[in-house]
Amino acid sequence: MAAKVIFDRDRCKGCELCVDACPVHILALEESTNRKGYHPAGCTDTSKCIGCASCARICPDSVISVYRD
Ligand code: SF4
Ligand code: SF4
Repeated sequence: MAAKVIFDRDRCKGCELCVDACPVHILALEESTNRKGYHPAGCTDTSKCIGCASCARICPDSVISVYRD
């Protein structure tokens, strides 16, 4: 199954809830900052995403969208 995880980068506040929620540990905060001045979360290896959507469900700001084929 192929899955894609998309972040609305400039809306992220870097709380790391999604980073902790990902069962395959592919989410991390970026070194650069977004428009709000936060280090936004991103996916380090999209090929390992299983499309579980745990990240999208836990995000308090609806930053993350998960698409499954
Ligand atoms: S959908 Fe699941 S596996 Fe993919 S990044 Fe989010 S928490 Fe991780
Ligand atoms: S849970 Fe949402 S706001 Fe928090 S770091 Fe992840 S994407 Fe950003």
